[in-house]
Amino acid sequence: MGQGLGKREVLLEALPRMTFERILYIAHDHLNRSLGVLREADPATDVVVLVESARMTSGRNWHKERLFFLLSSARHFANELEAEGFTVRYIQAPTTIDGLNRARDEFGELPITCAEPSSFRQFAQLQAFGGSFVVNDFFLTDRELFAQWAASQKTFVMENFYRAQRVRFGILVEGKKPLGDRWNFDAENRLPPPKNYAWPPYLVHERDEIDQLVATQLGHQPTDAWATNRAGALRQLENFVEHHLAGFGPYEDAIAADNWALHHSLLSPYLNNGLLSAHEVVSKVLEAFEARDLPIESIEAFVRQVIGWREYINGMYWFLGEDYRDENQLGATRKLIPMFTDSSKTKMNCVKSVVADVEARAWTHHIPRLMVLSNLALTTGTNPQEFLDWMREQFIDASDWVMVPNVIGMAVHADGGKLMTKPYASGGAYLNRMTQHCKGCFYDPKKRVGDDACPFTTLYWDFLDRHKETFAKNHRMAQQIDGLKRLADLPELKLRAQEVLSGLDQGTI
Ligand SMILES: Cc1cc2nc3c(=O)[nH]c(=O)nc-3n(C[C@H](O)[C@H](O)[C@H](O)COP(=O)(O)OP(=O)(O)OC[C@H]3O[C@@H](n4cnc5c(N)ncnc54)[C@H](O)[C@@H]3O)c2cc1C
Repeated sequence: MGQGLGKREVLLEALPRMTFERILYIAHDHLNRSLGVLREADPATDVVVLVESARMTSGRNWHKERLFFLLSSARHFANELEAEGFTVRYIQAPTTIDGLNRARDEFGELPITCAEPSSFRQFAQLQAFGGSFVVNDFFLTDRELFAQWAASQKTFVMENFYRAQRVRFGILVEGKKPLGDRWNFDAENRLPPPKNYAWPPYLVHERDEIDQLVATQLGHQPTDAWATNRAGALRQLENFVEHHLAGFGPYEDAIAADNWALHHSLLSPYLNNGLLSAHEVVSKVLEAFEARDLPIESIEAFVRQVIGWREYINGMYWFLGEDYRDENQLGATRKLIPMFTDSSKTKMNCVKSVVADVEARAWTHHIPRLMVLSNLALTTGTNPQEFLDWMREQFIDASDWVMVPNVIGMAVHADGGKLMTKPYASGGAYLNRMTQHCKGCFYDPKKRVGDDACPFTTLYWDFLDRHKETFAKNHRMAQQIDGLKRLADLPELKLRAQEVLSGLDQGTI
């Protein structure tokens, strides 16, 4: 029984006796019939097992919207496999290994096979248990191929990887040259949020019986933002291609006050739990580009995210190794400030709004993650592992492979620059340009001292000053560090920064 909740014994009696040869273990992020170990599965010889472990559900302070999405998607998927004729067990157990042992109690000591797990931890566990693995094809670049690329590089610049991907897949290229003679169209993109703009309506995902059962079990009232089955994920993809793809590029970096999704695809949850494959997402986008008059700057910007960033982040997770998550090269020790866990604990409009979005639907797009949440963690000197834990627990699309490099490398520069050549620190001026939150905010983005100085502006300069020796040899930081010398009010600013930091700790800023 796909849902594995109650009717199991009844169904067991009804089943004809079958002799299975393998147990196929499907992790909650491998929900795809055509990928991983299911690609070559046979209902006559394979029994399919999904395990809902207690660690997954109650081991941490998980956002309930995230749990709802993951559990309901897996239960829907189990039902679909069963409808196709598979014998499926959806087992609730303290750990994955306990669940697999239970499957062996029922079906005998069969070999257990799965796709290569997506985290170091699960890989080690399943390996120790004696599981065997097929290549993880939930990505377009397998781990070995990526390691070959990385080993051939002096620095791991994503842009170089991305260009190689374009040529490897023959996407938006003519031979080895980029279509339109340019590899990227950032100059046309990165516009501030538009005024009086009619954003297309959000796609609504209706809830069915399985959703309702999961919601009740979790004590959660889910939003209608996320699909929990493949049909819904495909609708989201179609909706994106139809209504958002054309506008994706220009506004990809903007943060609007009147729309939480802008033209972003909202596809990361499905790409990451397997309901959609990167291949089909990119193919649909390229088909649309062939069929319709769509701007290349939007197509290129989106393709870059999927064949570039997503693959690069996964590749780097495996390439950099298990200890990478513990890096803290800027020696950041501050505890997570209260406003991350409670949007009412701040007067900063941008942070309040972004955290409220995360509270509401466990998602916010890339720039709020990077330039608001991470910028705040970086410039306050928040401990990277505390910030990582919070991000990992709160986001609907979070997994170890994707959160670790994005947070440790991209967000808070805790790796000393292995991923990014410079830290993404910015003051209020950037936020004033790219968001609609500064107007009406208690704080003034132009001010760096005084009670109403924007905390981002004050902390930006304080951060640069605190780390000026570290960044002295980084030529990409030279201009910013040089700017410090022109600050006549630096002593005053340093005092204000101390007030801001203690106010942030107390939730009064
Ligand atoms: C600090 C931080 C944490 C992040 N954590 C996650 C995470 O846990 N899970 C996650 O999928 N993405 C993460 N991202 C990347 C990015 O913010 C999300 O992929 C994106 O916001 C998801 O929304 P979307 O599907 O509408 O993306 P779109 O803007 O429509 O982009 C399309 C797709 O590109 C891929 N993509 C783009 N950038 C990245 C990236 N840096 N890493 C991996 N994939 C990328 C995603 O699959 C995304 O669905 C993080 C970024 C930062 C800065």
